[in-house]
Amino acid sequence: MSKRAYNFNPGPAALPLEVLQKAQETFVDYNGIGMSLTEISHRSKEYEALNRETQELMLELLGLSSGYQVLFLGGGASMQFSMIPLNFLKPGKVGSYLVTGSFSEKAYQDAKIVGEAVIAASNKETNWRSLPKAGDIRIDPNSAYVHMTTNNTIEGSQWSDIPETGDIPLIGDMTSGILSRPIDAHKFAMIYAGAQKNLGPAGVTVAVIRDDLLQEEPKHVPVMLRYTTHAKNQSLYNTPPVHSIYVVNLMLKWVKENGGVEEMEKQNVAKTKLLYDVIDASGGFYTGNIAPDSRSIMNVTFRLPSEELEKAFVKESEKNNFVGLAGHRSVGGIRASAYNAVPYEACAALAEFMVDFQKRNG
Ligand code: PLP
Repeated sequence: MSKRAYNFNPGPAALPLEVLQKAQETFVDYNGIGMSLTEISHRSKEYEALNRETQELMLELLGLSSGYQVLFLGGGASMQFSMIPLNFLKPGKVGSYLVTGSFSEKAYQDAKIVGEAVIAASNKETNWRSLPKAGDIRIDPNSAYVHMTTNNTIEGSQWSDIPETGDIPLIGDMTSGILSRPIDAHKFAMIYAGAQKNLGPAGVTVAVIRDDLLQEEPKHVPVMLRYTTHAKNQSLYNTPPVHSIYVVNLMLKWVKENGGVEEMEKQNVAKTKLLYDVIDASGGFYTGNIAPDSRSIMNVTFRLPSEELEKAFVKESEKNNFVGLAGHRSVGGIRASAYNAVPYEACAALAEFMVDFQKRNG
């Protein structure tokens, strides 16, 4: 096998080698059944067992035991931007949004198409630099729910404290932060995440929904877009992306075997500290996009003194086995996405490369 790249892709993103190898090993002959999982019915006992086990593992790693349903949905995390208001935004109510980056803004824009949506807090005016503090958040008491993005993938910020929303259901887009650190999942009425960062390959979105949100069937919503449809059918209403879900299962086991979310957080803090320390010690050669109190332990974003130097940085990094370091096309700069599967050594190598690049170009 060729040398593994130092994979800092923002998503689809790195998976642990052990997970890829296990998926490869079982791809042709799944658990000795003489067929691939991709060749059998999603109604088979083998798939049903996998489905159930993956749901249970998801709850366990989130620290939830009962009272929530785990659904595997299609359409990416973006589909949730419209499914949430379609299912939960009743006439006379508003959807409240914490707009802290491009993805939460997209969620807010989609909700406005469906019904009435308002911004409970936003840090857009300060270029997303610092996340709103508790005192900056104004939640309309008439809210059907509050929506937030716990980790802002493009901007590189992360909420350290989850806002209190009282009796109003809190919904969290955790696409780029799920299982990266312990989080009080009970504070959320719904959590969702596209798999392609910390959970596995693209093609499935995991939604964890509290039972009370599933009591009423929204009859005005097409059947496939109702959460109740999927919940009533153990997420087997239609054909699920079985292979993606299988790899999610392997990823969840990998997290568990490697110390769970507590250990993931320790590793992620240590990994990103290597990079933030280089930025902070660079005397302004590297400037972090995000204020220290809002920095993400998943996506590290920074600029160099000029766009030419940024281009040179990316080009040279590629020659040195680093992948995926160019910032999002909407913001430019550099972004190093160090999801759970990115090893410490990759961040150590990147920190070293950054120091060396500055020496030669500073
Ligand atoms: N929300 C967040 C926080 C994301 O990072 C992304 C993708 O990067 C999305 C939503 C959109 O996900 P998808 O491409 O699965 O629709």
